[in-house]
Amino acid sequence: MNSDQMMHYLTGLPNAGGYIKRVSDCIKAGTITEYTAFYFNLKGFGNINQRYGMESGDRILVQFTDKVKEFLMEDEILGHLGGDNFVALIKKDRKEKFCRLLNGIEVDLGTGTDNSKLKIQSTIGLWDIDEPFDDPGEAIGRTSIALQHAKHIMHVPVVSVTQDMLNKVSVQKNVLEQYQSALANQEFLVFYQPKVDSRTNTLVGAEGLVRWKHDGQMVSPGVFIPPLEQNGEIVLLDYYVLKRACEDIKRWISEGIEPVCISVNFSRKDLMDADLAQNIDRIITASGIDKKYIEIEVTETVDEQEHGELARFISDLYDRNIMTAIDDFGAGYSSLATLREFKVHTLKIDRSFINTKEFSWKDEIILRDIIHMAHGLNMDIVTEGVERDDQIAFINKVGCYVIQGFFYDRPLPVEEFEDRLKDKVYKKG
Ligand code: C2E
Ligand code: CA
Ligand code: CA
Repeated sequence: MNSDQMMHYLTGLPNAGGYIKRVSDCIKAGTITEYTAFYFNLKGFGNINQRYGMESGDRILVQFTDKVKEFLMEDEILGHLGGDNFVALIKKDRKEKFCRLLNGIEVDLGTGTDNSKLKIQSTIGLWDIDEPFDDPGEAIGRTSIALQHAKHIMHVPVVSVTQDMLNKVSVQKNVLEQYQSALANQEFLVFYQPKVDSRTNTLVGAEGLVRWKHDGQMVSPGVFIPPLEQNGEIVLLDYYVLKRACEDIKRWISEGIEPVCISVNFSRKDLMDADLAQNIDRIITASGIDKKYIEIEVTETVDEQEHGELARFISDLYDRNIMTAIDDFGAGYSSLATLREFKVHTLKIDRSFINTKEFSWKDEIILRDIIHMAHGLNMDIVTEGVERDDQIAFINKVGCYVIQGFFYDRPLPVEEFEDRLKDKVYKKG
């Protein structure tokens, strides 16, 4: 590769290939642990391009780059991956100074007006390199993970990569690669979290929650569901969980254990599948169990198209005599129109409603009225995430009695849940 191919055409900085080569040189020289690796991009650069045009955008990038270059010492490296994405290796003792620099670099828009000057802030992912490593690509990979966290999860200007973030990303990568075989090898397990009537301390239902038993570890859905949803492959897992729940119910009946209704989650992304309701019906029917033992949980949506699909889905299930629940009601987007429009059987009040130390009179009025309305419309109410007895007292006071939460039980492996099914009365409470 000649040196032109290692440079970004606009800024003359090393591009990805050039930067990796320089990182690789530091690894070979044994100096890599003297550095902090950076990945940063410019806040609002898309808007700047849109507002002032690509040419101005390019001019701004060049000015920005010149100011960053001025900061660099001889053995520090700046790279330009493309667009407004930059990487750098900076000596550890100058890390804070570099962050301060990136926090506000002034550029001139060239409009000749009073407000021609613009301060540009960057969002930064960084990695303090404490151990030598072999693959120079990691200097980009790890800092990019930190940057994604800064932008999309933590919403702060600077984030250092942690082992936790790396583990999560590696599990996400694994799940996409191993999803099909994990399904075939039955590595996905269904745990059951009891729903309990707090007046009688009796088990009245349960929610099926998926876990991935991977390399001897139990991985929680928060880790593997988002990448599967993004990939559009989650529906296979949701069918699988439903099938397993139906099989368990069937087995309990055959063993003389009286089941309770099990609710199963379906992702909103599943709604793209036009045959969803029909397939659910087919799975329940094929298992031979009574439909009264299954309920389908879905969450609401702000997206208008999804809202239409959701309405059709719920009404389709209703026509097929399959019960539905609106999950996480009151979290994020919820609307009273939902109560009017959807033929749902159950409303699940989100944990955020009761996840407070003290309950205000406002909380009380809002919840009481929601519950009152839902009851008037013949819906059942379940409150989720109940951990303390003062939460139970509050929830009871506003008219809800069925509770799902750590107060009674965490999601349980099937064998443990069977013990609850055999003796449905809780001794505590
Ligand atoms: P969700 O449907 O809202 O499920 C309730 C979550 O709250 C569960 O987390 C449960 O363990 C947790 N939880 C229950 N009681 C308490 C409590 O008292 N305190 C606290 N802090 N948490 C409590 P989990 O099992 O990690 O599941 C997380 C989410 O993953 C679920 O939220 C659901 O959105 C999704 N999920 C789980 N299983 C499936 C599945 O089979 N298919 C799909 N599409 N999504 C699933
Ligand atoms: Ca749920
Ligand atoms: Ca929920």
